[in-house]
Amino acid sequence: MGLAVVIFIILNTYPLFVMHNLIVNTKRDRLISSASFIASTLSMSESLTADKVKLVMGIHNIGENQRVVITNRAALSVYDTSKIDSTVGKYLILPDTATALKGLNFFTSKYDDGALKSNAAVPIMIRDSVLGTVYIHEADAEQARILSSLRVSMLWLSLFVCAFLVMLNLILTRALTQRLNKLLKAIRNIRDGSYGQSIPLDGHDELTTISDEFNEMSNRLKHVEELRRAFVADASHELRTPLSGIKLLTDSVLQTNDIDIATAREFMRDIAAEIDRLTRIAEKLLILTKLDSGNLPGLEPVSLSETVLNTINLLKPIAEEAKIELRCELEEDCWIIGDRDGARQIVSNLVDNAIKYNNPGGFVNVFLFKREDNCILLVDDNGIGIPKKDYERVFERFYRVDKARARSGKGGSGLGLPIVKKHVLSFGGTISVEPSAHGGTRFKVEFPKYDKNSDK
Ligand code: ADP
Repeated sequence: MGLAVVIFIILNTYPLFVMHNLIVNTKRDRLISSASFIASTLSMSESLTADKVKLVMGIHNIGENQRVVITNRAALSVYDTSKIDSTVGKYLILPDTATALKGLNFFTSKYDDGALKSNAAVPIMIRDSVLGTVYIHEADAEQARILSSLRVSMLWLSLFVCAFLVMLNLILTRALTQRLNKLLKAIRNIRDGSYGQSIPLDGHDELTTISDEFNEMSNRLKHVEELRRAFVADASHELRTPLSGIKLLTDSVLQTNDIDIATAREFMRDIAAEIDRLTRIAEKLLILTKLDSGNLPGLEPVSLSETVLNTINLLKPIAEEAKIELRCELEEDCWIIGDRDGARQIVSNLVDNAIKYNNPGGFVNVFLFKREDNCILLVDDNGIGIPKKDYERVFERFYRVDKARARSGKGGSGLGLPIVKKHVLSFGGTISVEPSAHGGTRFKVEFPKYDKNSDK
C-alpha cells in the first residue's frame, strides 16, 4: 500500500515538474532572445522617442498573444502594442523594467487563468549605458493546455498503476495466506499428535523449502512415534509375562487347601525366579531409557583388559554351573575411551549369552588384542548358534531368535544386545556377528584404541 502511495506521488509530481521546467526554459530563451533582438534594433538610435520607436517596431512581427512595451531610461513608456490599456506616456514602474534598467535581463512565468503568463524585460544598451527597456508579456494558453492535459493523463496513469498494484498485492497476499494456512493446519495436526502430515506445496520459494523440511521432520516424528509405541507395547508385553506367572503361582498356592511346606517352598522359588526376571527386565529398560535420553556418563580412558578380566572372573561360577568351559586370552594394556560400567555391560552381556545359548560341555573363548588403531574383543562359542537371517535382527529391542527359549527360562528379554550396541556406538566402536569356526556364534567388537602413553 505504501508503495502505491509513493508511486502515486512520484507520477503526479516528477514528470510534471520536468515538463514545466522544459516549457518555462524554452519560453525564457525565446522571449529573452525576441526582446534582445528588438533592443538591438532600438539601440541604434541615440534617444527613444515615440516616433522613432514606432518606426523601428514596424519591422518586428509581434505575436497575437504578446504585448510589447518600450520605455526610455526614465521608465516612461514610449511604445505599447496594446491599444486597450496603453501605457504610452505613463511611467512603467515594475520589477521587470526596474531590473532591466539596471542593465540586467528579467524573466518570470506563472500559470494564471488557464494560461502560462510570462514576462521578459531586457535593457536597450548603447555603449555601456542603458537607453531604455523592452518589456514583453505573453499569455500562452496552448502550453498551459498541454501541461494541464499532461497533469490529467498522469493522474489517470497513476490511478491505474496504483489500482494494479493494490490488486496484485491482494492476489499475492491471498496466495501467500493460503499457503501459510496449509502449513499452519499441518503444524496444528502434528501438535494434536497426528504425525506423518505432509504439505503438498508447489513452487521454488522459501516457503516450499520450509514445507519440504517440515515434511521430513513430520516423517521422522512419525517414525519415532511408531518406535515409541512399539517399544511401550513390547515392554508391557514383556512385563506381563512374568506377572502372569506370579499370579498363576500365587493363585495355585491360595487355592490349594492344606498345602504342604515343601510344595509351598517350590511355588515360592518359582515366584522368586519370576520376580528376578522382572527385576532384570526393569533394570535393562532403565539402562536403555538412560542411553536413549543421551544423558550419558562422561567418557574417560578405561582399561579394557582389566574390565574383561574382572567380568570373566565374575561369570566363571555361572559357566561352571552350566558346564561350559570359559577360556580367555587377553592382551595387556588395551585402553579405550568409554565408561567403566558400559564396558562391563558389553562384556558381561556377550559372555553371558555365549554361556546361556550353549550346550553342556561346550566352551566360550574370549580374545582381546590390539590391531592397528583398534582394540578388538572376540566372544566365540560353540553353542546353538544364530540363523544367518537373524544376524541383524538380534540387535533390535525385544528380539529373540526363539521366543520359546525365554519361556523355558533360558532366554532373557531381548534387551541385552541392543544395550551392548548402544554402548559400543557411544564409544565410537562397531559390533558384528558371524558364525564361529567351531559351529556356534562369534561376536566381534572393535573399539578405537586409546594410546595411554602419548595421552592423546
Ligand atoms: P536375551 O536377553 O534374550 O539374551 P539378547 O538381546 O542378549 O537378549 O539376545 C537376543 C537374542 O539373540 C537371544 O534371544 C538369542 O536368541 C540370540 N543370541 C544372542 N547371543 C547368542 C549366542 N551367543 N548364541 C546364540 N544365540 C544368541
